[in-house]
Amino acid sequence: MLKFVDVPRGMPEKRAAEARRGDFDEIYREYAAAKAEEQSSRCSQCGVPYCQTHCPLHNNIPDWLKLTAEGRLEEAYAVSQATNTFPEICGRICPQDRLCEGNCVIEQSGHGTVTIGAVEKYITDTAWEEGWVKPAAPRVERPESVGIIGAGPGGLAAADMLRRRGFQVTVYDRYDRAGGLMIYGIPGFKLEKDVVMRRNKLLEDGGVTFELGKDIGVDIAFQELREKHDAILIATGVYKSRDLGGPGAGLPGILKALDYLTASNKTGFGDTVAEFESGELNANGKKVVVIGGGDTAMDCVRTAIRQGASSVKCLYRRDRANMPGSQREVANAEEEGVEFVWLSAPKGFVGDDRANGVRVAKMRLGAPDVTGRQTPEEIEGADYTEPADIIIKALGFDPEDLPKLWDVEGLDVTRWGTIKTDHRTHETALDGVFAAGDIVRGASLVVWAIRDGREAADAIAAKLDARASVVAAE
Ligand SMILES: Cc1cc2nc3c(=O)[nH]c(=O)nc-3n(C[C@H](O)[C@H](O)[C@H](O)COP(=O)(O)OP(=O)(O)OC[C@H]3O[C@@H](n4cnc5c(N)ncnc54)[C@H](O)[C@@H]3O)c2cc1C
Ligand code: SF4
Repeated sequence: MLKFVDVPRGMPEKRAAEARRGDFDEIYREYAAAKAEEQSSRCSQCGVPYCQTHCPLHNNIPDWLKLTAEGRLEEAYAVSQATNTFPEICGRICPQDRLCEGNCVIEQSGHGTVTIGAVEKYITDTAWEEGWVKPAAPRVERPESVGIIGAGPGGLAAADMLRRRGFQVTVYDRYDRAGGLMIYGIPGFKLEKDVVMRRNKLLEDGGVTFELGKDIGVDIAFQELREKHDAILIATGVYKSRDLGGPGAGLPGILKALDYLTASNKTGFGDTVAEFESGELNANGKKVVVIGGGDTAMDCVRTAIRQGASSVKCLYRRDRANMPGSQREVANAEEEGVEFVWLSAPKGFVGDDRANGVRVAKMRLGAPDVTGRQTPEEIEGADYTEPADIIIKALGFDPEDLPKLWDVEGLDVTRWGTIKTDHRTHETALDGVFAAGDIVRGASLVVWAIRDGREAADAIAAKLDARASVVAAE
């Protein structure tokens, strides 16, 4: 029986099969060490580090590759963590093909990229094993406090930076565990949960206070937080699932991607989830149809396979070349047995008291729109019904209406509902209230949330420093 552990990319198939069957950790560690050194020494130190410019954190990749190639791992770790709060997490889940690795000069000359993400992960995993990763130990304690709403990568990156400067930091989250989508969105086979949980503990050990299970706007009023803290950072992400209409759209058996993934992640922690136990959010033995072509859809299909679904199909209205999700993820899903049904759009759902199929319109790609992307057009008379026991909608996310939910005036939002900020300082229209991550950008990436969180922390510290110097001068 195949164990679903993700072996490093490029691992020879024989070794990968051994790793899947046997002592994964040992084989992996030995392989990762040899591979990291080999890959790092492939960096040509080209002097035009496009990898670095295309990394949202502008990580000093050539330097840490050189240090790794020379076996100077502790120094490599020092360089790597100077610009990235969670290097081992980015190394695991950044879409490197679109960022650092896609712009590696060696890749562009046709010789295959240096596997930068895998090396970054290896450096920091080693740092954890060796005890080089240390909690914040500020030289001075500052009296000012910062309240951070949202314990995703944006909020946590800011919490880390602010605490290291000595500020008193409280992070509020409506979930029972910190980590945001790194805990309850992204599946464990892509990002192991203990990797995130040890980061949460490190923050706690460094003096960050977590107030979990607190929904701001419900359990605590936003205004109350403003009165309690000297500055606020909103890092709440985007959680309003895009929906589908059409006949039968309200039938049971049609699930939201995040409900499905959250239940799966919670059961991975050993929690009891009633809807999973009842089979409502469990794909075991079922015909599963996932609608969507992005990375969330890929996570749903791959989770369904791991839960033992009898078949998994993914419907997408464009073709393979035009799908938004990573091609690497599609290839992984196909290898695992997922069937992609390209040029297929849902028109409605069939079933009496429960959905048992999707009514599918066949599409073709027509003329390009203003963005140059070909528009899907329906082929008349080609509809058919795709049978399904579970249908998962994975169509993306929009921001919740925070000013309304929190009953707060003056918190300006864009026409997409994301929070408006000054792009240099991340400050919102409200004095002393900052925002970062997906709630500002719209659904994006962990690495961008980390960058925003770090920048917002700098701006918050500058603002509190300026206030403190005015008070001192008075
Ligand atoms: C299924 C899925 C898979 C993904 N895979 C990847 C991937 O492989 N690689 C990648 O780079 N990115 C991936 N992403 C995107 C990435 O997870 C997000 O871009 C990133 O987590 C955004 O960080 P954030 O801190 O802005 O928000 P989030 O991670 O969403 O965290 C926001 C936090 O705020 C909390 N919150 C919200 N409202 C309130 C409130 N009113 N009161 C208290 N707390 C509140 C939430 O509970 C949550 O914990 C994926 C996203 C999804 C949905
Ligand atoms: S943070 Fe992401 S983009 Fe930057 S070097 Fe690491 S894997 Fe590449």
